[in-house]
Amino acid sequence: MEKWEGKTAIVTGASSGIGDAIVRDLVKHGINVVALARRMVRLQKLRDQLRNEKGKVITIKCDVSDKESIDAAFEEIEERVGRVHILVNNAGICVSSEIFSNNRKSDEVIVSTINTNFLGLVRVSQKAYKLLKKTDDYGIIINIGSIAGHNASFDFPFNVYPGTKFAVRAFTESMRQELNKLKDTKIRVCEISPGGVLTEIGGDSLNTPEMKAMLESGMFPMLKSSDISQTVLFMLMTPYEVNITEMIVKPVGFN
Ligand code: NDP
Repeated sequence: MEKWEGKTAIVTGASSGIGDAIVRDLVKHGINVVALARRMVRLQKLRDQLRNEKGKVITIKCDVSDKESIDAAFEEIEERVGRVHILVNNAGICVSSEIFSNNRKSDEVIVSTINTNFLGLVRVSQKAYKLLKKTDDYGIIINIGSIAGHNASFDFPFNVYPGTKFAVRAFTESMRQELNKLKDTKIRVCEISPGGVLTEIGGDSLNTPEMKAMLESGMFPMLKSSDISQTVLFMLMTPYEVNITEMIVKPVGFN
């Protein structure tokens, strides 16, 4: 990990769950982090908790579903930090979004799922690339996808969500190939696709008696956020010429 010490990472969706864990692990390894999310109070609390770590945390408000918010955040990043070496596209929502049944959700939910999970990731990557290229150094973009990007199973009532994660997987590969075409061999692009992780995601949608019973039955084993942040560290530890294009991370006992 020494090769990344003193370098700077941007982590989206840093205010809870997997993003929060990624920030904690990066700063412990001496990497400075620009932590982005909408809930500034959470971000500031995280920054305060990590003030004695080797790496430093800068908090900036950014709603990845809103182009203007992304533009403003990146202007601030460019001004305050300048060069960046690591981008972790982690922000995401998973809201119940059935489209045919009686539980069907409003168009707003559908649009915000697509804008947050996919369009936001595309726009943030485009902005971050400019800062990754400001240095002639090595860089990496890590997209947090999901096993839902491989299997649009309907065990959970998240109809639109898997589509956004399939899109993330396709886009990760497109980005990688575009960089190859540009002969940009210093920036790697990869994806981590987790299985179920115990976080705040899903909110009310997972709070139904059926969902609770299913989760408590042990039939659906879950990972911890730190399992995924450790996978991010693993990706960073690989030699620069190695591109693990995707890692699927499942809890033991999960099909
Ligand atoms: P959490 O709900 O705990 O965290 C989601 C993070 O995304 C929060 O920090 C939230 O911050 C941020 N976020 C949501 N919407 C926006 C937005 N519009 N703009 C900026 N930030 C936003 O969930 P997880 O940690 O579980 O999710 C992180 C990622 O992992 C997601 O991409 C998710 O799809 C993926 N994933 C999760 C799995 C799981 O089982 N938990 C499994 C597979 C993948 P704020 O609200 O403050 O903006």
